[in-house]
Amino acid sequence: MPRIAPLVAAAVLALPACSAVAGGGPPDPSAAPPPSADASAPAAPGEGGSGDGTGETAAPEGPLAGTTVVIDPGHNGGNEDAPDRIGELVEAGHGRKACDTVGAETDAGYPEHAFNWDLSRRLRDHLEEQGAEVVLTRESDEGVGPCITERAQIGNEARADAAISVHADGGPSSGRGFHVIAPGVLEGYTDDIAERSYQLALHLREGFEEGTGQPRADYIAEDGLDKRTDLGGLNLSDVPKVFLEAGNMSNSEDAARMADAEWREKAAEAVAAGISGYLQEQQDGAAGQADAG
Ligand SMILES: [Zn+2]
Repeated sequence: MPRIAPLVAAAVLALPACSAVAGGGPPDPSAAPPPSADASAPAAPGEGGSGDGTGETAAPEGPLAGTTVVIDPGHNGGNEDAPDRIGELVEAGHGRKACDTVGAETDAGYPEHAFNWDLSRRLRDHLEEQGAEVVLTRESDEGVGPCITERAQIGNEARADAAISVHADGGPSSGRGFHVIAPGVLEGYTDDIAERSYQLALHLREGFEEGTGQPRADYIAEDGLDKRTDLGGLNLSDVPKVFLEAGNMSNSEDAARMADAEWREKAAEAVAAGISGYLQEQQDGAAGQADAG
């Protein structure tokens, strides 16, 4: 297995996201106008990251008080019309990948970015109700990006106790079910977050399964869990992070669920329960784990 030099990691993290070089040349730190407007303001803790005034977080109370969760709604509504911008290559921790992608959609035309956005906002509300500070990685469903690099960086800058990327898959139409993706160990990148991310993934799988009745994916992953080292959003994270693929948009049964607002509300509650279970376990075990090495 090729080793990744720490120097490379440092250079990658210094890269200014989307607008960086797209060709094969070396990274040029000076060629860096700031990325897209809707991504320019990762909310500080306390601002909640919400654009609709519901982020009432002064003096939070509840089981998650004192914790910060970053929610990353995958893709964005403007990506389809900005192929050049989202197609730019960024350093993803294991080679270069596109800044962002358009995402999946159901046969009826319900786009993944809209599903991700809706579920993420519902999830934010549930987590805030429990006292967590919540930061979203984008502020609307009409923008472009941000790049996967920046989505990870927002979690890092918020020093999130947990981060989740919300997605739906576009698999074979015969396959259905959800799966959770945790980062595999990539030395110099994810070796420090892999174990906690895996614990987060286990809690999320349990919460999502119990709360929605959604089956574990039968066409990908194993028992609803996967580990990957090819996702920049995971590789570049310094905080425990997982991806949720809530279902397969190409499958009619999954698609019907995901297009149903009542199901999305149930799903948001279920995801919140999973994240909450993880965070409370971390809080409970924090003292004991300090000595465990
Ligand atoms: Zn996606």
